[in-house]
Amino acid sequence: DAPTDGLSAWADIDLDAIRDNVARLGELAGDADVMAVIKGDAYGHGLVPVAGAALAGGATYLGIAQLGEAMAARVAGVTAPILTWLFPPGADLVSAVRADLTLSAGAPWALAEIAAAARATGQTARVHLKVDTGLGRGGAWRDDLAGMLVDAARLEAEGVLDVEGIFSHFVYADAPDHPTVRAQQETFGAILEDAERAGLHPRIRHLANSAATLTNPSARFDMVRPGVSIYGLSPVPDIGGPPHFGLREAMRVVARLINVKDCPAGQGVSYGHQYTTKGDTRLGLVPLGYADGIPRHASGVGPMQVHGRRYTVAGRVCMDQMVLDLGADSPAVAGDEVVLIGREADGEPTAQDWAAAIDTINYEIVTRLGPRVPRRYL
Ligand code: PLP
Repeated sequence: DAPTDGLSAWADIDLDAIRDNVARLGELAGDADVMAVIKGDAYGHGLVPVAGAALAGGATYLGIAQLGEAMAARVAGVTAPILTWLFPPGADLVSAVRADLTLSAGAPWALAEIAAAARATGQTARVHLKVDTGLGRGGAWRDDLAGMLVDAARLEAEGVLDVEGIFSHFVYADAPDHPTVRAQQETFGAILEDAERAGLHPRIRHLANSAATLTNPSARFDMVRPGVSIYGLSPVPDIGGPPHFGLREAMRVVARLINVKDCPAGQGVSYGHQYTTKGDTRLGLVPLGYADGIPRHASGVGPMQVHGRRYTVAGRVCMDQMVLDLGADSPAVAGDEVVLIGREADGEPTAQDWAAAIDTINYEIVTRLGPRVPRRYL
């Protein structure tokens, strides 16, 4: 491990946990393969190291939303199959095809541009058709798909495209029993029949996010596409945390107190004096702020732990720092560790605790952790 001496804060990323979580999801997925979703810098955990860990855990595909990030993975030496699904008209698809990326086509213009890039390179481009079964986001509606299916079948027959896959995405990432889940699955099934009738036989049909992978075997098809769960985070906190699903949190965020000072009762703390000390106490300064992705909305509520004791941010979160009211009897001194994100099983604050405190989702908490916080890979 790299030493933490002299670091203000760091994030330990447990790559074995990611490997084991992917293996666990693979067991739950039965015969289906696993595409590990590593977009958003692997939900803040680090694109390239996480790619390696996910592949070691048995993932056969990687999912990276944005084309630029997928290209970055290739440049960094990731050679496994990668599906990418966000790029604008006019993107450099020639480079993408040369880099052997699998491109998503969710509209006629995308299919045409992928075909043009394939012709320009003389290579067959690998495509997954993206269909909208109700999310109301990316992909083509079933009613608008007929022409695309015919075009895709023709381009495949000409050797321009390999229509390897077809996929859709659920409306709910945290409510696997919601009625829309069944409706979307039925629409997806109908679209698969439409594709077969058009002469397409995609080998990889995929629909399941983490929640569906963990709880809904009927949504597995040929491949599952978990994201948040590979990092050991629960997509369904109402049902249970990571241990409930046999997962282990991969990210641990620790800072060092850089100042501890005595403080009298009645002292306002941080910008706007939103917080006032109740009695004689000691204030500890945590050198992380909203420039590091600590939500400013966490002012007064973001949970942290020092010497096994739980606190919340005293007053406002600033750009680079925030304050803890440690209490008069705290043994803390400058240099001591503050746990921001740890393990539920050890009773430490978690990404889910931060999310609950500010009414957001654990995805956002880990993904927004900024580049000033060095990642240490364990
Ligand atoms: N598939 C697609 C298309 C996504 O956009 C995402 C992330 O939102 C995922 C899969 C992974 O979802 P989750 O992190 O809920 O498992």
